[in-house]
Amino acid sequence: MSAGGSSAAFERERARMVDDQLARRGITDERVLAAMRKIPRHLFVDEALRDRAYGDHALPIGEEQTISQPYIVALMTSLLGLTGREKVLEIGTGSGYQAAVLGELARRVCSIERLPRLAQRARALLDGLGYANVWVRVGSGTLGWPDEAPFDRILVTAGGPAVPPPLFEQLAPDGRMVLPLGDAEGQTLTVVEHAGGTMKLTPHGDCKFVRLVGKYAWENG
Ligand code: SAH
Repeated sequence: MSAGGSSAAFERERARMVDDQLARRGITDERVLAAMRKIPRHLFVDEALRDRAYGDHALPIGEEQTISQPYIVALMTSLLGLTGREKVLEIGTGSGYQAAVLGELARRVCSIERLPRLAQRARALLDGLGYANVWVRVGSGTLGWPDEAPFDRILVTAGGPAVPPPLFEQLAPDGRMVLPLGDAEGQTLTVVEHAGGTMKLTPHGDCKFVRLVGKYAWENG
């Protein structure tokens, strides 16, 4: 986008993003589309990258991390099947954009980020935009957030080798978790549910996320 970055121009960019990248590719959840039409994604990236905020790609957010491609945000959020009543745990706050989308669509969002600088920036931005139902904490996400468990939905926005056991333990019996499972080269977007005491895993296509780092994922950054 080159038209000066006025808020009307960004709004047009956003409407085009939703039509061309999301609706046209099969995202049908109207609440997800409305949330992504509303949230000012350009505020979640550095000023120098704002012109590219509505493009069909991930973007760097510092500290070697990225804000996910809009389509992937929409797909993961759709897979959660949110109605507005859920308590959601997100692992990997990053820019805070996905947390804002969840904040629009769920009752409460608890989001954990391991890098303090990113967590602080996301928290300030989300507070400024009025997302009082989104809590951001610095911590080790593969351990979950035991004090707030159980969660109706869990979304992990970094790629790990397997489902971290504490997260499955903190998932409500009729809950649903969405996470990318695989290695550093690529992952499969996976839906995890309880099925009579065991885990039921359903694959939903390929994706590529930054590494999930922690006790129950990859070691070290
Ligand atoms: N949801 C983000 C994208 C996140 S990128 C957005 O909308 O912008 C993945 C994030 O996960 C990075 O910020 C990374 O620091 C974080 N991360 C990786 N492993 C983590 C862990 N174990 N606990 C918490 N955050 C983690």
